[in-house]
Amino acid sequence: MNKTNEQLMARRQAAVAQGVSQIHPLFIERAENATVWDVEGREYIDFAGGIAVLNTGHLHPKVKAAVQAQLDDFSHTCFMVLAYESYVEVCEKLNQLVPGDFAKKTALFTSGSEAVENAVKVARAYTKRAGVIAFTSGYHGRTIAALALTGKVAPYSKGMGLMSANVFRAEFPCELHGVSEDAAMASIERIFKNDAEPSDIAAIILEPVQGEGGFYAATPSFMKRLRELCDTHGIMLIADEVQTGAGRTGTFFAMEQMGVAADITTFAKSIAGGFPLSGITGRAEVMDAITAGGLGGTYGGSPLACAAALAVIEVFEQEKLLERANTLGTRIKASITTMQSKYSQIAEVRGLGAMIAIELMENGQPAPQYCPKVLVEARNRGLILLSCGTYGNVLRVLVPLTAPDAQVDAGLAIMDEVFNVVFNG
Ligand code: PMP
Repeated sequence: MNKTNEQLMARRQAAVAQGVSQIHPLFIERAENATVWDVEGREYIDFAGGIAVLNTGHLHPKVKAAVQAQLDDFSHTCFMVLAYESYVEVCEKLNQLVPGDFAKKTALFTSGSEAVENAVKVARAYTKRAGVIAFTSGYHGRTIAALALTGKVAPYSKGMGLMSANVFRAEFPCELHGVSEDAAMASIERIFKNDAEPSDIAAIILEPVQGEGGFYAATPSFMKRLRELCDTHGIMLIADEVQTGAGRTGTFFAMEQMGVAADITTFAKSIAGGFPLSGITGRAEVMDAITAGGLGGTYGGSPLACAAALAVIEVFEQEKLLERANTLGTRIKASITTMQSKYSQIAEVRGLGAMIAIELMENGQPAPQYCPKVLVEARNRGLILLSCGTYGNVLRVLVPLTAPDAQVDAGLAIMDEVFNVVFNG
């Protein structure tokens, strides 16, 4: 007989450090496009996409074929020892895809956190400065320097003591929660007055749309003001596109919608359709500020992940997935907006492209108490959902862009049913 989720959860609890949390108590046996099956044979519609990793779906046939073909040749040499063409080709593609009308260079790594850390290293080397400005509710990863940039203590750095100095926190603009663009800019000026001269700041890092923080998008006008500030003071603007990148927001990078370009862009997650690949792309002269040997890593830009990334980029073109992100996003937003009239707790439905958030509030206050219930009730009905947000009151939809409409609609129908039970039940 197959193992049960419960048995495997018990083994997990005994063997795996509790710091590695788990949202759904399920063990998965198989996955295809937007469907996953657990070890007990139950089928689920996957609206989580491995946290924004599966814009091209689970095991897209072309991604799978590319990785299988690479496996027939070799799986590892370490690019820093013996190179391979696919790494160079991924860099060439990213130099094209990342916004910015200037010569660019790219370096590849494995995780989003690693990309963030290397972006900061490059900015420090280029500017010869050590300070970094990050934003409230920003998420940049769990490794130690990325964690210092992440703007949420519990659970990410709780119990670990103070994170590294030289990180200054500005307010992220979010009208819904009372932070205007002017207030956000003023918070940076306050840092310059109280904490550090602009000439000590190497970089300002932000997500064009905050991911874990709650899917709040920076506006093009805010981005333009940041760009101007950075230009005035010789500060590098780093766009962390780990979650927004690879087509989720309806353009390959969200910064394409912001009217200005970052000096350095991070990417990871969906860029390789489920294989671990991350990287940074930036102005060529900035990227070259680090001398030979200062960037890299044993597995960075693994041949298998590079093969997957090249296939992902091709699939985006062949299947017109950017257009799909927009039509899918419109479809999901329209459906949930209709539900808004039935459930007063749905305060806002928002999102660029197919990066959709549903913010739950009650009496003008964040209502986080509903999210865990929604997740459980949805799972019981065969839908995998995720929440996020500083206040834990945001439901997010990150369904593969390749999911058929009928399946997306089935997932939305489950959400409607669940909202009825949770809000009215
Ligand atoms: N930056 C952003 C914007 C992210 O969303 C994440 C992951 N959620 C990271 C960095 C860290 O990526 P990883 O978990 O691959 O280290």
